[in-house]
Amino acid sequence: MIEKSKQLFERAQQSIPGGVNSPVRAFKSVGGTPIFIDKAKGAYLYDADGNRYIDYIASWGPMILGHAYEPVVKAIQERAVYSTSYGAPTELEIEMAELIISMVPNVDLVRMVSSGTEACMSALRLARGYTGRNKVIKFEGHYHGHADSFLVKAGSGLATFNIQQVPGITAGVANDTLVAAYNNLEQVKQLVAENKGEVACIILEPVAGNMGCILPEPGFLEGVRQLCDEEGIVFILDEVMTGFRLAPGGAQEKLGIKADLVTYGKVIGGGMPVGAFGGKKEIMQHIAPLGNVYQAGTLSGNPIAMIAGYTTLNTLKENRGIYKELEEKTIYLKQGLQQVLQDWGQPFVINQFGSMISIHFSDHPIIDFTTAAAANNSRFNKFFHAMLDRGIYLPPSAFESWFLNNALSYQDLDETVKAAKESLAAI
Ligand code: PMP
Repeated sequence: MIEKSKQLFERAQQSIPGGVNSPVRAFKSVGGTPIFIDKAKGAYLYDADGNRYIDYIASWGPMILGHAYEPVVKAIQERAVYSTSYGAPTELEIEMAELIISMVPNVDLVRMVSSGTEACMSALRLARGYTGRNKVIKFEGHYHGHADSFLVKAGSGLATFNIQQVPGITAGVANDTLVAAYNNLEQVKQLVAENKGEVACIILEPVAGNMGCILPEPGFLEGVRQLCDEEGIVFILDEVMTGFRLAPGGAQEKLGIKADLVTYGKVIGGGMPVGAFGGKKEIMQHIAPLGNVYQAGTLSGNPIAMIAGYTTLNTLKENRGIYKELEEKTIYLKQGLQQVLQDWGQPFVINQFGSMISIHFSDHPIIDFTTAAAANNSRFNKFFHAMLDRGIYLPPSAFESWFLNNALSYQDLDETVKAAKESLAAI
């Protein structure tokens, strides 16, 4: 029964475009009524009708420790009485920067912003300002937020809704964005050769999460890194999803790959609106007020956001075992799902890395956007609803990774596998 969600969705559409403040939440591609959330605790979401769901979205990544993690809630409550914003520097911002630098390789200086979009947009501007070049190479199906330059052949909601071209983005901007297929080093080399001396940066998701979860093939990231070194191109790792999720040092640590600039979001804010970009001093010192590459924010470094992020990151730094636990849980889930999918007998692919995982109903490996788009995604949409009916909250699109949180118990995982078995029988 989701009567209240239905009523709320009707009402929401009168005052909010599509009834939601971010498109994928609308369930437009999977159909049906989006579930309106009332509250969450640990691994569970509770909707407006009082139904409980096991959560595999984790607010699209941030809630790695589970919802309403007590130390984070307490830290927010304690800070809030001292005002929610100052617009002036605080010691807490230094502590946050120092903590990030202590956890992440290759970051000398870090600037806090309020979203992953801002982080990637600012890193791009900085790369352009630093190199004096205009072009950016990105990858098909990767999503770096909704700044104009990135909305070319992008993943996430644009892939879900099949938005090929975004009205409002000028041809001039779009022409400076060059697109290669993920895991295709030859294409990247070709683009660089065709645009010799014009490419400011290459940006990518080290482990892609915005077309389902897709792993980098051996040598791919290393090849891009080397190309950047040879051509004076800034290598930007978008760790908005992977940062502090795959390891304390994100994909850079887990995969042993070095970025020139790195962007963060999601986990870094512990559920508050936070992003960050950082990197080598040589590049970062071009940001205002040190340099003229301008970037600013009224709420950047906001004290409530900082304390939520700081408490989350510090918990992860002090308890590295969380990453091992999370990975073990994710592999356990993968093995359970593999078993029921095999018994079911139709083709499938499960890609998993750390605590990121996704299913594609496909008879070919999923290595890039083309292969992800060629999977049977309408079957995924049915699976999504069958799971939702059984109290399992998956991302409402095959073009999204699932995120595990550490509040999930093995009983929750068993319940999920059981629901998957029933769901497959039902679709
Ligand atoms: N980069 C990546 C890899 C992302 O997954 C996202 C959001 N899903 C963003 C950037 C944009 O972050 P935000 O939604 O916080 O603007």
